[in-house]
Amino acid sequence: MLYGRALGVQPSDHQRKACAEVYGDWGRCVLDLQRACDGHALAMVGADLIEAHGLRTTFGLDAAKMGRFLARVEGDYGNDNPYHNSVHGADVLVATHLFLAKFDVLPHLAPIMLLAGFLAAIVHDFNHPGTNNAFEVKVASPLAVRHSDDSVLERHHLAAAFEILYRKEYDVLEALDGDERKQLRGAMIDVVLATDLRGNFDFIKKLEKIPRKGPEPDAPWPLPRDAKDDPKLALTVAVKFADIGHALKPFDQHEKWSMLVTEEFYKIGDREKALGVPVSFLCDRDKDTNMAKSQIGYFKFVCNPFYKAVAELVDAKLGPFDNLESNLWQWFLLYKGEALPTAAPGKKSAKRTRRASAAILRPHIAANGAAAPAVAANGGAPDLLAASGRAPTPRRHSSVLSKKEVDSSLAGGKKLRVANEI
Ligand SMILES: [Zn+2]
Repeated sequence: MLYGRALGVQPSDHQRKACAEVYGDWGRCVLDLQRACDGHALAMVGADLIEAHGLRTTFGLDAAKMGRFLARVEGDYGNDNPYHNSVHGADVLVATHLFLAKFDVLPHLAPIMLLAGFLAAIVHDFNHPGTNNAFEVKVASPLAVRHSDDSVLERHHLAAAFEILYRKEYDVLEALDGDERKQLRGAMIDVVLATDLRGNFDFIKKLEKIPRKGPEPDAPWPLPRDAKDDPKLALTVAVKFADIGHALKPFDQHEKWSMLVTEEFYKIGDREKALGVPVSFLCDRDKDTNMAKSQIGYFKFVCNPFYKAVAELVDAKLGPFDNLESNLWQWFLLYKGEALPTAAPGKKSAKRTRRASAAILRPHIAANGAAAPAVAANGGAPDLLAASGRAPTPRRHSSVLSKKEVDSSLAGGKKLRVANEI
């Protein structure tokens, strides 16, 4: 196999089966896939999808360079981060592919655009420092200075990835002609820059202007219909859909990812406290302990508006949109104290997420592509979280969401269901 030879990691039949299973099912867990792949989910899935879609043969990509590139990206992803690490990269790649396949966009994309989409998904958070753009700008970090405070991390992910890609030993794209390289680089830049959530509302407005499906029952859905004319837009929707996509996963998975990202937020707050600068919103592990409330806000302002717009451009019954509504309900019930969390928010969960993220990431591929050590017998986060048992009812804050706010938030979910039944 391509990655077997290049990475020195020969996938077993079990690993090939685990990869194949996540390609066809929205509900599969990439945290589990990471365990099945002995910590190499991103490199294995990346090589496998490029191979499976004929992109290596179409463009004459060098197998050894592809393997080295994927190993390097995986190893240097930011694997000390609880959330923005190579497992998130693998998750986004898997979900991007699922989006393109399930919603019938795949057949409308030229091979060079599909390659760009896969590479953009792979590197979209490459070399992540575990911070966010606001932190980088606030402390005038070297990255913020270099990128003039503008989409600092997204520009860093791209620059760091292309710096590697353009080195001879990693130059996967050397067989492409000048025009193909230009198209691919342009698409990757557009897609990765669009993952900056600062531009989310403008992007949603753009989606809302796309003419909708006509009344004819067999009329094509807008996104597949237009993918040939505007492949960068289709790829951008796919990668953004995937990037915040844990909101669409079954609640037990969504909750694990939410805990990991919460711990990463807390680590930003820890650094801000150490530096003596104001602690960012939701980043104080001593004060911002109501995860259910934070999640309701996240759904309300980020997830619901975006997914509602996307659901109107694709055959929504083929996607996991119903989970968005049920997950929001679950957070709402937790917030109201009417349901027990499967894992605790707050300080206890912060400790668990630190342990969990360390276990998920062990082992990871070293930057030189060396073989990884044996995976922990319990495999990481899921078992640790399951073993933690039930947790106390989440604490309520005095600054609770108003009923109007919650109703309005839930109404977004209900509208989505309507869109889902078109
Ligand atoms: Zn991401």
